[in-house]
Amino acid sequence: LPGPACCLLTAVTARSLVDGVDAFLFDCDGVIWKGDKLIEGVPETMELLRKMGKKLVFVTNNSRKSRRQYSKKFRALELEVAEVYVVGEDGILEELKLAGFECFGGPTLSFMMINHSDALGRYARACISENPGCLFIATNRDPTGHMTSAQEWPGAGTMVAAVSCSVQKEPVVVGKPSSFLMDFLLKSFNLETSRMCMVGDRLDTDILFGQNTGCKTLLVLSGCTTLSELQNASNMIWPDHYTNNVYDLVGLLQ
Ligand code: PLP
Ligand code: CA
Repeated sequence: LPGPACCLLTAVTARSLVDGVDAFLFDCDGVIWKGDKLIEGVPETMELLRKMGKKLVFVTNNSRKSRRQYSKKFRALELEVAEVYVVGEDGILEELKLAGFECFGGPTLSFMMINHSDALGRYARACISENPGCLFIATNRDPTGHMTSAQEWPGAGTMVAAVSCSVQKEPVVVGKPSSFLMDFLLKSFNLETSRMCMVGDRLDTDILFGQNTGCKTLLVLSGCTTLSELQNASNMIWPDHYTNNVYDLVGLLQ
């Protein structure tokens, strides 16, 4: 067994998990889709959970799209969706503009960081170190990003680490696993964390986020975590349950 409290989801535990929660928080990449490809059985799983009266919330650390753009993606994948909450990059820019903020920087910033780290380091120092009122906010600290299993690249966490080191300051992280996001969700919906289940494919963001905020946790192996990584002796983050993909819920609840 991977950890003392981590069990492969069964018909009995799936039933008790679903009965014990009012809401499911779904991570997106690796759980709902991989890049532009829907993961098998997602529409059926969402339909079943909605029929059972569960609230479904989508929480991604990927900030390339705004909420409006994510709604479009959900529609393009023929997924019915009420609301998508996104924290981050291209999308952050659009959201901030919509909220009436004057914005600068934006989508080119992360590329600038890789290619022109010297310029960015100086820019960040000027903004953060020399201006005590300047907030240092990170959308997430994901070490890697994934589009498909074959496409992996350095995640936002690599950029955050470079800026943090350069300015000698820790950021306020607003994406998973930070509880900042949960405070926002609790304010936005009528939810109780003890009656929520966080479903994700990443241990150090999704599962940790669920655990830190008092949710039940379900790891799916359809994304970036393999069974051997979960079972590795050095792994210290164990979900309550794990299963191959969200579609297993449909079979187990029959
Ligand atoms: N940030 C970027 C830029 C990404 O491309 C991804 C995944 O592809 C993520 C974050 C993580 O997204 P999620 O939280 O949905 O797994
Ligand atoms: Ca993910």
